[in-house]
Amino acid sequence: MVYLTGAGPGNLDLLTIKALRVIKEADVIIYDKLINFEILDEAKSGCRFIYVGKSRGLHALPQEQINETIYQEALKHQSVVRLKGGDPLVFGRGSEEALYLKSRGVEFEFIPGITSAIAAPTYAGIPVTHRGVAVSFRVITAHESSDKLDSQIDWDSLRTDETLIFLMGVHRLEQIVTALMQIGKPSTTPLAIISRATFKDQNIVVSTLQESLNIDTDQIARPALIVVGEVVRFKKSLAWYRSTP
Ligand code: SAH
Repeated sequence: MVYLTGAGPGNLDLLTIKALRVIKEADVIIYDKLINFEILDEAKSGCRFIYVGKSRGLHALPQEQINETIYQEALKHQSVVRLKGGDPLVFGRGSEEALYLKSRGVEFEFIPGITSAIAAPTYAGIPVTHRGVAVSFRVITAHESSDKLDSQIDWDSLRTDETLIFLMGVHRLEQIVTALMQIGKPSTTPLAIISRATFKDQNIVVSTLQESLNIDTDQIARPALIVVGEVVRFKKSLAWYRSTP
């Protein structure tokens, strides 16, 4: 059995009970860069760990090889945990891995995780929806492998009052912000960059579309995501998370 498991956004307390249970029972854990490595301390003794992490520009292992690694481990072991940051199906390629296993007759389960797309704003005191301010939200990514922003994004449709949450986009901040202003979003629209959300060193930078063009994104710790919308204003009153008790 392969458990395609969400590890949550980082903070150990945000792991689900089911994820913790399969981690404790796992014979092998195949994990990514985004997870909190302290989770691995929960594994039983003798559990094998395989790191298949990727980082931007530096692909540790191509996806095809990751799929094959999971498959090969599934042939050898009772219980394989494939551990991914946040939720395994939110820009997590969990579904690609599941299709690969399914086509080879290997059983799998998905274990949802708390996605950073929602946990990061929540830990920053930014509600992704708020009655009368934002009635919906969107989770968007900038394409990983090209210099141009993803042409699959329908930019014109982002002119609404929805809360926009950009994952994997901090290195593209300028392009994202420019595109949003080009489609007519007011330059005063609030924007927040939330980095290392739910970790002890969580940090939040609040700005506006226009002012964010002055942010030096090299100074922002990763992982980080961008939230755009009026709901960002709530941070002033609702920020609650203190990393020290
Ligand atoms: N499956 C993951 C997302 C994978 S894409 C999930 O559901 O959360 C990776 C992106 O997620 C990062 O580039 C970053 O934008 C975001 N991310 C993940 N963990 C984060 C954290 N603790 N704080 C801020 N952003 C995070």
